Amino acid sequence: MDARANKVAIVGAGSVGATLAYNLSLKGAVTEITLIDSNREKAEAEILDISQGASLGRSFKIEATDYSGCRDSDIAIITAGARQKPGESRVDLLERNVGIVKSIVHAALDAGFAGIFLIITNPVDVLTWVAYKESGFPSGRVIGSGTTLDSARLREYVARHCRINPQNIHGYVLGEHGDTSFPAWSLLTIGGIHFDDFCPVCGACEEMGDFKKNAAEEIRRTAYKIIEAKGSTCYAIAQAGSLIVESIVRDERRILPVSTARTDFHGIPHTAFSFPTIVSKGGVVQVLDYTLPEDEQRMLMTSARFVGENIGKAGY
Ligand code: NAD
Repeated sequence: MDARANKVAIVGAGSVGATLAYNLSLKGAVTEITLIDSNREKAEAEILDISQGASLGRSFKIEATDYSGCRDSDIAIITAGARQKPGESRVDLLERNVGIVKSIVHAALDAGFAGIFLIITNPVDVLTWVAYKESGFPSGRVIGSGTTLDSARLREYVARHCRINPQNIHGYVLGEHGDTSFPAWSLLTIGGIHFDDFCPVCGACEEMGDFKKNAAEEIRRTAYKIIEAKGSTCYAIAQAGSLIVESIVRDERRILPVSTARTDFHGIPHTAFSFPTIVSKGGVVQVLDYTLPEDEQRMLMTSARFVGENIGKAGY
């Protein structure tokens, strides 16, 4: 993969796919984007809208194609499929999206794609497993965006409360990108200070009350609230997807909470979930497997088991 010439294929030119293409175009993260959608007219219209800003920003190649556009792509990003209706959970999309992702993986492979799959369509963990199985690629080349978005939400939530720049908050939401995810407070640091030790140093709050519980609940519920009000989420997920793409194409070795397929995880035969992972040019360099404190490890196991059960329900 040439560090200067990078091409990504985005399958799904809906709210997430088009916003991701726009985000990548603003950042100049890649030199070429191909947008693929079963609604070709929609993909072409998104391309027109984005490319008409070229003289005002960065210039790069962007076009709407069929799956042949995947052939020389470094990354194929799957954002196609059904999205949650108000009140629906991510796993409610399972039946509708398994077949779609399976067919997209095969269409990309038939076109000669041999790069890295990045799965964003929900339920993202189950579909990461589906793409892993259907592609036959090593698990390190099938990455789910996982809890990269949820972790960004956590950092922003803590930043807002503590009145600190979110980039100085390091922390992760782990497990399923869904209702069983949880913030791993044991890993959260602010300016290098562990979260629990930061409060006495800061001294601004008289008492924290149910801060952790409220934060966990708010991060889990926020997508539901956004979907209820505006139909879909797109900006922060596009930012998260774009960061994963950058880590790959620029060989950045970022540690990101992406989702990867796991076989025989502490007795769970098959699952996929997010854990801090080094992401670079070839995809996953390493999942930083370590044992969490007992309560968090228990939540991780519950989450991993839940995804495993849904993988089973999907027929895998
Ligand atoms: P959308 O309805 O706006 O767009 C979906 C697009 O997929 C449409 O343009 C549709 O024509 C296309 N499509 C459907 N079937 C296709 C197929 N077989 N081949 C090619 N294209 C096909 O939906 P959206 O808001 O962009 O959401 C897309 C997915 O992303 C949903 O599953 C949603 O839940 C998920 N999502 C994931 C995260 C995350 O953090 N992982 C965040 C937000 C949304």
